[in-house]
Amino acid sequence: MPERAFAEQDPEARDVVLVVEDEFPNRALLKATVDRATIPRVREAILLEASTLAEARSILTTRQVDLIVLDVRLPDGDGLTLARDLNGAERRPRILVLSASVLPSERSMALDAGTDAFMAKPFVPADVVETMAGLLDAGPVVTPAGRL
Ligand code: CA
Repeated sequence: MPERAFAEQDPEARDVVLVVEDEFPNRALLKATVDRATIPRVREAILLEASTLAEARSILTTRQVDLIVLDVRLPDGDGLTLARDLNGAERRPRILVLSASVLPSERSMALDAGTDAFMAKPFVPADVVETMAGLLDAGPVVTPAGRL
């Protein structure tokens, strides 16, 4: 497959990443991580930010998103409910859960909710970038009609 164009003047070619995180320092850290990513696909992604589930849902109704980086504890609920809701869709973004909890139960709950990857905070920037790139490369999750 030829390498995709990441030209700034062609916004169609850039991936859209939605960061759902209520704590500003964590959003800022993730943004800095993406800005400094050594993988162009991640570095040049368009970052959208939501600090609540409601904001995230609102953005998802108006924008096509390729990847959601999802916090679990949010002011208006559990981030995993958003993942479960999206699972019913015919096409949904990849979901990377970033959680402050290191409990094995939380990891398995996140994966049971249909998310694609789970990483603990504080995260290693290079690891997050690599995981994001892998999920963007994988493309959206498409559920064939009739399987539901
Ligand atoms: Ca939180």
